Amino acid sequence: MHECPTCLLTSEASQDVFRFFWPDQEVRAALSADGPCSFCRDVARYLDPARLLAERDAFFERARRPVFLAYSGGKDSTAALHHLRRDLGVEVVAVLFDNGFIPDVVLEYARSVCDRLDAELVIDREPVGRERLQRGFARRLQVAFRGPRNDVCTVCSKTFLRRFHRMMVERGADSIALGNNFWSHSPHTSGHADPPHMTATWDRVLPGGEVLHNINLPFASRITLARTRAILDEIGFHDAKFTGYTSNCVLSDFQDHVRARDGQRTDWGREYLSLEVSAGYVTRAEALSMLDASRAGPDEALMARIEAALRSARPI
Ligand SMILES: [Zn+2]
Repeated sequence: MHECPTCLLTSEASQDVFRFFWPDQEVRAALSADGPCSFCRDVARYLDPARLLAERDAFFERARRPVFLAYSGGKDSTAALHHLRRDLGVEVVAVLFDNGFIPDVVLEYARSVCDRLDAELVIDREPVGRERLQRGFARRLQVAFRGPRNDVCTVCSKTFLRRFHRMMVERGADSIALGNNFWSHSPHTSGHADPPHMTATWDRVLPGGEVLHNINLPFASRITLARTRAILDEIGFHDAKFTGYTSNCVLSDFQDHVRARDGQRTDWGREYLSLEVSAGYVTRAEALSMLDASRAGPDEALMARIEAALRSARPI
């Protein structure tokens, strides 16, 4: 077995993460005994920090105000919110989609952070409150959990994005900041080499013809986990500490739990962290210690509660 000395990939990894993020491409990292994997070598070749900062500055120069932030209440989007307000001085509307599985402590925290950073917070719920979950969202989640890949986060993000985009159009906004730590284009993952370097922005055309401009802000600004932690310390972020890597929604932990129980995607955490290492967000040592911390296993009582809530189609 070969292990990349730069990221955490091994020659035995299923590389499901790459198929998940780039489903239309045949993205596979090659591992060898001598040096970094092909993925890490490509990132070293295509990542140009100065170019990313220039791309970011141009993005905010032309963005209509306010800029909308897809705000999960978790670590990365909280750091992005802080960066937008304190470093870039951008007027922000933060939208948090309450799918019924966001604990109250996260919602309360989101309110206090937005208050302190002087950002407008919209907590988006189904139109007639959480009860609507009984008919719509939870049913779709039940279907997702029965599916072969348990892609519950995909169901949620599709629902959220549709509502989020509609809200932006109604407000006359055209620019979205995301807390993503990855690139949007790179020649080695996009299947084409134009531009021949990594980028952090992309456009989405809505069915009505409106164009929404997106930026993966932490990636563009080269915000690392260490910087994120410093920001979170400064604003007194209290991590709700669910059992996996997320700090906002209990569903993603439940998803991991179900996958592990069903023998699916057990490499997911390691592969996902490998991407974050190669993107420069976490160091290899940090990623390894996060993997160790996650071995404690899930909170069984919480997992049982989520399962019961999903089965009866109600919020947790
Ligand atoms: Zn690698």
